[in-house]
Amino acid sequence: MTQPLARERLPDGTPVPALGLGTWHMGEDSARAGDEIAALRTGIDLGMTLIDTAEMYASGGAEEVTGSAIEGRRDEVFLVSKVLPSNASRKGTIAACEASLKRLGTDHIDLYLLHWPGRHPLEETIAGFEDLQAAGKILRWGVSNFDVDLMRDLTALAGGTSCAANQVLYNLATRGIEYDLKPWMEERSMPVMAYCPLDEGRLLGHPDLGGMAGRLGVTPAQLAIAFLLSREGVIPIPKSSNPERVRENRAAADIKLTGAQLAELDRMFPPPSSAQPLQMI
Ligand code: NDP
Repeated sequence: MTQPLARERLPDGTPVPALGLGTWHMGEDSARAGDEIAALRTGIDLGMTLIDTAEMYASGGAEEVTGSAIEGRRDEVFLVSKVLPSNASRKGTIAACEASLKRLGTDHIDLYLLHWPGRHPLEETIAGFEDLQAAGKILRWGVSNFDVDLMRDLTALAGGTSCAANQVLYNLATRGIEYDLKPWMEERSMPVMAYCPLDEGRLLGHPDLGGMAGRLGVTPAQLAIAFLLSREGVIPIPKSSNPERVRENRAAADIKLTGAQLAELDRMFPPPSSAQPLQMI
């Protein structure tokens, strides 16, 4: 029987589902919107109520698809969106967020991220986030694609310790954050939102992963997601526009990998033995 989805906690204590839904590439083709909306609604029905989107995706199209998917169900959902670095001045952050709110059809975003570090000083972006928070338009803020040095710089700034999450590339094939960034975040009770948990689908063709999944009676996608869910403080956000695949991904949360199975994955995809620069897409 399906177990209730585990929860992770944000630094302010707010519980969020340990497995969410990505939306990159949604909204690019109107002929696919029906499937995309159905996939997101299936995920919500199954408890994957954290939805990750961004103003960048399909130039707002993914936010519009997300808005349609959550229509009438806003209260069930924890919405994450992102401001482009080129917009992340104080005023630009506010304007970008207001445009996102319109496309999403909501009056607030639960977690608003700086998509990656850019040319605007972080103090400016934080000031924009704080203005938005004061106006109730975002409930909290965070960052994405920040390596450990940048996290140190950020949290040394006034207001910087309010950062609620860092969303980074993390999957079996890309484990560099386990060496330094992840432990640093763990010490601060800050969850890692793991993007590209399936390495954009590339992991699914890995022969050894396929072989192990076959022996366990699960799919390679489920094994890749179960690996991430075995880590404390990690929230994978796989994207699928296919409701059946969303069901498959959700079922990964019911897989409990043993120590021996995790060791087998370590042999296949060795953890880092030294610091590596953060990889990003
Ligand atoms: P994922 O690793 O989630 O892989 C998505 C791909 O895998 C799609 O092609 C999807 O196809 C396919 N897929 C999903 N589930 C299955 C399954 N069970 N079996 C077979 N194929 C499957 O890559 P993403 O790049 O989408 O990353 C996830 C999310 O992370 C994004 O959607 C976005 O929200 C976020 N992100 C954030 C970034 C950042 O800079 N902050 C950068 C990149 C991503 P289909 O849809 O046809 O099922």
